[in-house]
Amino acid sequence: MDRDFLRDRSVLVMGLGRFGGGLDAARFACRAGARVIVTDLASREALAGTLAQLTDCPIEYHLGGHREEDFGPDGADVVVVNPAVPPDNRYLAIARAAGKHITSQVELFFELCPACIVGITGSNGKSTTTILTAHLLRAGLRSEPRAVWLGGNIGNEMWLSEVEHIQADDVAVLELSSFQIEQLARIHRGPHVAVITNLTPNHLDRHGTFEAYCDAKESLFRHQPLDAERPCVSIFNADDPVTRSWYERYLRQPGRRCRLFSSDDVPPDLAKRFTLPGQANRANLAAALQVAEALEVPRDRLAPAIASFRGLPHRLELVREINGVRWYDDSKATTTPSAVAALEAFSCPRIVIAGGYDKHVSFDDFAAALVRCAKAVILIGATAPKIAEAVRPRNPDDRLIVQFADGLPQAVAACAALAEPGDVVLLSTACASYDMFDNYEHRAAVFRAEVDKLA
Ligand code: ADP
Repeated sequence: MDRDFLRDRSVLVMGLGRFGGGLDAARFACRAGARVIVTDLASREALAGTLAQLTDCPIEYHLGGHREEDFGPDGADVVVVNPAVPPDNRYLAIARAAGKHITSQVELFFELCPACIVGITGSNGKSTTTILTAHLLRAGLRSEPRAVWLGGNIGNEMWLSEVEHIQADDVAVLELSSFQIEQLARIHRGPHVAVITNLTPNHLDRHGTFEAYCDAKESLFRHQPLDAERPCVSIFNADDPVTRSWYERYLRQPGRRCRLFSSDDVPPDLAKRFTLPGQANRANLAAALQVAEALEVPRDRLAPAIASFRGLPHRLELVREINGVRWYDDSKATTTPSAVAALEAFSCPRIVIAGGYDKHVSFDDFAAALVRCAKAVILIGATAPKIAEAVRPRNPDDRLIVQFADGLPQAVAACAALAEPGDVVLLSTACASYDMFDNYEHRAAVFRAEVDKLA
């Protein structure tokens, strides 16, 4: 397939999306010479921010709902679906029945990208591992000028609309969500180098069971190109029982090289240069090092690259130290394993702000980690009572201080009252933010503003 396949055809972009996935697809389709219609359930007002970024593109908009006729026999030739749209969506069924070509941003990217693709997925640590991998490759790839592209499910980085600039010798490092992997599985495509960080229950609202979720993630490996001129490399977490079993399964398959990583394997001379705290981040480094090794980055270039990596905002990010108390913005810790990883990253007394939007997950492991590791927890948001309930039977002597706060500013004040020099305070809520904030960045901004006021 080449880009000309869209020239003069009509393309329907379904779902502009809060994270701009549709924006990139729409821009790509316009540049490729298609007639583009964008449709979204949300209204023009709700999408104003995204629409403002498309003013230079000749697009027709059908907003505030989808129209059956756009998907039917007289509708668009090609439908580009946002990953957030479930495969059983009724409009997609109409398009399928009408024999339309249904595709997505990630499918088009894989069809059109001429470079080696590194695809990184997992339940936690995807973004950190993806950005760290790109950072190491940029510092280390031998034959310059080989560009290293960073993109995928990671915010406003490179994506489909830039694919025309990618050269065959380049490397594209992509974070892939389980939804995008499902879309790739439909066309039997996978990356040349595939990495899984770990697996814990997540997105069960869409996948149904943990097994179905794991199966969706596994198809990243199932469809890797084994017969290509490029090496096919599969990288698994040795310390995760599910991904370890995949390693055993794929190990002997011809055409594929399998590698394992573990947080304990990082050579000491490299580990000591790494500034991100905790074992979970060391696991991310171990995964990125496996990619670098597979792509033959010379070892002597890795050490300075590791030392210069600063991590991402809102992931165990030190905001400031005030009177010997270190305040960490870990607003991206929206799952219980990521909040547990934050707790385990320190050995000093820990005060945690937790709670938020209710995704109906179990807080048992998180409560156990709180009782084991923390000095106090300040609970906010919709899940505050649930977390308190999970803590109670594990905390019979009230060794862990549990308090409720009406909002994040009150929680910060409660932490300040409890904290002593040498303590750390973590905004590691184990929950999404949507019950009280626009998103995790908004939650982080409120936290940081309150912490700044303390200084
Ligand atoms: P993702 O992209 O999978 O959401 P991020 O790299 O953005 O992962 O990190 C999200 C949160 O998870 C942060 O709070 C971070 O500190 C924590 N985290 C990072 N790596 C890991 C890991 N390997 N295991 C568990 N938690 C992690």
